[in-house]
Amino acid sequence: MKCPYCGYKEDKVVDSRSTADSSAVRRRRECLKCGKRFTTYEYIEEVSLMVIKKDGRREPFDRKKVLAGIMKACEKRPISMEKMEEIITQVERSIQKKSDREVIASRIGELVMEKLKLLDDVAYVRFASVYRQFKDVAAQGLDTGDIR
Ligand SMILES: [Zn+2]
Repeated sequence: MKCPYCGYKEDKVVDSRSTADSSAVRRRRECLKCGKRFTTYEYIEEVSLMVIKKDGRREPFDRKKVLAGIMKACEKRPISMEKMEEIITQVERSIQKKSDREVIASRIGELVMEKLKLLDDVAYVRFASVYRQFKDVAAQGLDTGDIR
């Protein structure tokens, strides 16, 4: 880090700690030339996942939209909200692992189905039937794009 006092490019970190909410790392640095101290903050870069729709348009991954689909499939099933949230988090993670952080809309449905299959047969069948309908409609050339 360039020293804000003398412009020298080398320093040593004398202290490093997380901010109270853990959203950043605060570092105290000491310039190796003038010896003055300064502070830097390191933040996580917000990564937005993009969903590629059938017509090639991209839109940000919408957790709420996916959750609505899962909730519908899980209606009156012994599946907690926490579990449903967990499914989405897992789906998000597997998209994040991809270097381009983009996913084809239909792939999200497949990922959710995989998770539901392990969790609850009824919810899985429900979700799968909605998903297949959506796929058939998409196959007819209509842009549904979203999983509802
Ligand atoms: Zn300096």
